[in-house]
Amino acid sequence: MGFGGIIGQDRAVALLRQALRADRLAHAYLFVGPGGVGKRRVAFALAQAVNCLHRLPDGDACGACVACRKVAAGVHPDVLLLTPEEATVRIEQVRALREEVGRRPYEGSRRFALLDPAEALTEQAQNALLKTLEEPAGATTFILLAQRAGALLPTVVSRCQRLAFGPVPEALIARHLAAAGVPADRAHAVAALARGSVGGALALAGEAVLETRDALLSRLFPALERGPAACVELAEEIARDREGLGEAFDLLLTWCRDLLVTAVLGHPGLVVNRDRADALAAAAGGFPVEALAEAVAVVAAAREALETNANPRLTCEALLFRLRDLLAPASGGDRNGTRREGELRRPGA
Ligand SMILES: [Zn+2]
Repeated sequence: MGFGGIIGQDRAVALLRQALRADRLAHAYLFVGPGGVGKRRVAFALAQAVNCLHRLPDGDACGACVACRKVAAGVHPDVLLLTPEEATVRIEQVRALREEVGRRPYEGSRRFALLDPAEALTEQAQNALLKTLEEPAGATTFILLAQRAGALLPTVVSRCQRLAFGPVPEALIARHLAAAGVPADRAHAVAALARGSVGGALALAGEAVLETRDALLSRLFPALERGPAACVELAEEIARDREGLGEAFDLLLTWCRDLLVTAVLGHPGLVVNRDRADALAAAAGGFPVEALAEAVAVVAAAREALETNANPRLTCEALLFRLRDLLAPASGGDRNGTRREGELRRPGA
């Protein structure tokens, strides 16, 4: 832990270091940025730096003292993390937190209360928190972590000093993965798929994501070619794995996007799936650009529909039928021709 181990959030870390040096820490921060980019790590690093018993000259925590070790282990009595019970943070939880922060720190010099994700606070809970933010208790710093500030009450946002966390550059993630022992080729491919999230990349690196992608693609295109019955069968199979469904759609989306980019540029220079650049180069020319653009749009729409609790099986089926219209090779047709008829032969339909 410590600021030294944070990847790709130099600006936020610099601002916090500066506040630490000047002893001008805010009473409330709002860390805003996508998931997995290090918001929680920075929050803990700050709590560590403030409560460290042997702080280093650069303002970072020593990482070795008893206070540092307690923060790292999540057992420091002055570093509180409030997470949702079930889906929301209820008003009772915020009341309990308020009571807690009203007391003096137990061991450290300053108490930290982390609310992650802050979007989980109900409106009532936010209003309860607002009172505390308006009349800050002496030695407490609140840190609200959120993906979108818009999900919080403006009154809450306005009481916090806001720090923006951006996606972590792909090259930094790849280097981090390589340093963690992930083979270079895999590190690059996974870093690109993680879309700026270190946490996501680490999770992906540990999983067989590239193998999952290859298995999916090896079944998808033959199914599109074979016809509606094969599409229904594959849709059912994909939808059965509820946990992996979002990832499957993500993989499909980046693949279609890569086909489009390769078709437009004429080479796979900017693709996400770099380990499969040759396959992309070979395949991209076979599709009309506008069909690929449409495919990207329909996969993205299906991905979004999933997030809003659409029926997974029906969403998958509709998506595969649509992709079949767009991407299945027309029988005897010219693959480089204009967009194939949307009605494409539909036996059994
Ligand atoms: Zn320390």
